[in-house]
Amino acid sequence: MALFSNPGYCNICMEDTTFTAEQTWLRDHYFCQRCRTIPRQRALVEVLTTLRPAWRTLTIHESSPSIGFFFKQCPAYSASQFFEDVRPGEYRNGFRCENLEHMTIASESFDIFITQDVFEHVFNPELAMPEIMRVLRPGGIHIFTAPKHKTLLKSVRRARLNNGAVEHLLEPAYHGNPIGDGRSLVTFDYGADFDDLIQLWSAYRTSNYMIRNRHLGIDGEFLDVFVTIKDTANYVPGENC
Ligand SMILES: [Zn+2]
Repeated sequence: MALFSNPGYCNICMEDTTFTAEQTWLRDHYFCQRCRTIPRQRALVEVLTTLRPAWRTLTIHESSPSIGFFFKQCPAYSASQFFEDVRPGEYRNGFRCENLEHMTIASESFDIFITQDVFEHVFNPELAMPEIMRVLRPGGIHIFTAPKHKTLLKSVRRARLNNGAVEHLLEPAYHGNPIGDGRSLVTFDYGADFDDLIQLWSAYRTSNYMIRNRHLGIDGEFLDVFVTIKDTANYVPGENC
């Protein structure tokens, strides 16, 4: 049952469509009726297209993709997942096995690195963000979504690894996961300081884009799109911990 519907344009179908809100939590229930994507996926494509209009001709890598959009659209696209039982750098089902914190990928390999709702599941983002900067070419961008909690002033670590075992610092919380046992542990609740942490960890300045545009089917909470540009003008020396 629809709470409301509106006509618009879906940048993932690349067609006119109808967007329908099926529940009040628009973030996960404001669907394109053609492709069933959700607002944060369309928000990322909108920001990417604004910043890098020719992205289809560039080299893109995505960690842990949830939809096949970029695979279909970009000839120089590759993707990775972390499989516990596959050697890093080897492939399963078309995905290269990579741990974002220690990638086996050569430096300066990609123009664009995409992560969609991945960083709230990473145990050591302070290792993963510099790794992503390493594999980006100069001028490349890390474009990503991750929930930034509006009522949280400081980010909170929910879980960490202790000699390979998960140590829960808060009640375990999970999100759905297309691989493994179908769920993914939330390791961080990011708050108002998240942008500063990204800058600290990546050593490059980060911009946060927020769009509310029902014509594009973009409305709801947690729709922040973050972009870190590997540009010497953005380099923040000495801040990476
Ligand atoms: Zn669509």
